[in-house]
Amino acid sequence: KGSLVCVGTGLQLAGQVTVIGKSYIEGAQQVFSLMPDAYGQRWLESLNPNITDLQQFYAKKGEIKNRRITYEQMTDAIMSSVRAGERVVGVFYGHPGVFACVPHMAISRAKNEGYSASMEPGISAEDCLWADLGIDPGNYGCQSLEASQLMFFEHHLDNSGYVLLWQIALAGEHTLTGFATTQARLKVLVDLLRQWYPDDHQVCLYEATNLPIGNCRAEWIDLKDLPEASLNAITTLVIPPSRALQYNLRVLKQLGLTPKDLG
Ligand code: SAM
Repeated sequence: KGSLVCVGTGLQLAGQVTVIGKSYIEGAQQVFSLMPDAYGQRWLESLNPNITDLQQFYAKKGEIKNRRITYEQMTDAIMSSVRAGERVVGVFYGHPGVFACVPHMAISRAKNEGYSASMEPGISAEDCLWADLGIDPGNYGCQSLEASQLMFFEHHLDNSGYVLLWQIALAGEHTLTGFATTQARLKVLVDLLRQWYPDDHQVCLYEATNLPIGNCRAEWIDLKDLPEASLNAITTLVIPPSRALQYNLRVLKQLGLTPKDLG
């Protein structure tokens, strides 16, 4: 009977895959892959030659295609192998379940159809970010949001903790056909962020390196300069806290404590 496991490769070529993830890849009858570049794809082929590259479902040059269709087609491709009785492994860069819908869709569909399906965690962009920037998200807390979701929906940012905006290069892109945002949309985002942060608040354009050589990009800019910044598909925006943690005096009182007790 067919089965599905979705694994992550981490971001950095070959070195960040887990031991169990690699063994699933090597033992698969059919691998479906979504890697960040050709190096990653070639490395995967060296582990298992039976690979279908899911990149083929993205819009071709000049084609207008909604990404929802792309994701459906990727899921269908994976599911047709599972239904054909194969031991299938979906390989996705980073963590397969973090800001990535196809692994979640495929696993839920496979389970609904009675197949064994599971996910193995991987090292996500966020994990690399904490390591590269030397930040512990536990110090002040952290919110992770897709930039567009922050714009389209009423979210409340906690500006006493870190905020990560994923897919900043697609901020406000609602058609799901384009692959870039515009300065005008980024100005709307900066306007929105002004309720929590001053114009000169330092934010970081972060890009982990996908290769074992080279450094990450960690470019600090004023928030107000975001519309002119150079953004790539892999850029994540890091917004550090703009105000100190505030004591919750009501809860402290219920605990019989005062701020002094916290040291
Ligand atoms: N599943 C992936 C993970 O676990 O990191 C995330 C995939 S999500 C569709 C793509 C977004 O992840 C990008 O827009 C960016 O915010 C972030 N991302 C991907 N690669 C990155 C990198 N090399 N450095 C920083 N952020 C990255």
